[in-house]
Amino acid sequence: MTQVLEQIRRLARDHGGDLAFVVNHSGGKDSARMLGFIRAKFPDAPTYAVMADTGFEHVSPISAADFAHARCAEFGLNLTVVRHPRRTYLEMVEQRGMFPSPQFRQCTSDLKRGPIDKFIRSLPHNLIVNCLGIRSEESNPRSRLSPLTRNQNLSTRCRTVYNWLPVFDQTLSDVLAWHWRNAIRLHPVYVPEYHKDGSTGGYLRRFSCRVCIFSTDADLAAIHLHDRAAFDAVADLERKLKFTMRPGVSLVQIVEAHSSASIEEARQQSFCF
Ligand code: SF4
Repeated sequence: MTQVLEQIRRLARDHGGDLAFVVNHSGGKDSARMLGFIRAKFPDAPTYAVMADTGFEHVSPISAADFAHARCAEFGLNLTVVRHPRRTYLEMVEQRGMFPSPQFRQCTSDLKRGPIDKFIRSLPHNLIVNCLGIRSEESNPRSRLSPLTRNQNLSTRCRTVYNWLPVFDQTLSDVLAWHWRNAIRLHPVYVPEYHKDGSTGGYLRRFSCRVCIFSTDADLAAIHLHDRAAFDAVADLERKLKFTMRPGVSLVQIVEAHSSASIEEARQQSFCF
């Protein structure tokens, strides 16, 4: 990380010191950790916190945007919320007649990257470092990413843009420990073990859309229990489109199978005693 920081400082010098950071902020733990890191390392650089609202963000007990606004305010920053001008996540799925997939993440490109790219193009800086809260340990494909890469799409003759992953090397424990040490709140939908006292919290380990194409079976069972409106919205769309979010199996079937497996597991464990 020291090398990357040096590289960014060198780039800033090469661009006459006109460096600005754009921090992609979802309201989640990695975004907050990233914001704290950038403010600590580059306290004097203009820093823009921006959230891409997919229209399917958490709403309860506090909306993702309100929560993100409050976290940014703790670091002395305003949050800009950007959106696709014409459609939300569910509208996008309905209009396309299909769900995005991990291979073709149109939700990310249309509803997140697109509006944030537009925001970046509006900024008056020579050098912009676009910061994303991706951590290496999250998955194998993520671990193979480079922490600092030139963004060719957004770079022009007058503007150079780099994508940077400031928390790439941080583990989940590092991120949580930083929140606890600095008394930075975590959104209440996170599971109790993520919160310092462990006595409050919700049902999710990832902060994503209310139902995400990457939700695990256990996540979907938890969403079915705790956020039925979001679960039903996606399940209804599956029925209407005759297209399932996961290939070949509906959300309802996943949750039924998960519940049966959990009951069977509990039954097996009860025989052990
Ligand atoms: S959180 Fe999940 S569903 Fe939402 S935009 Fe990202 S990948 Fe798509």
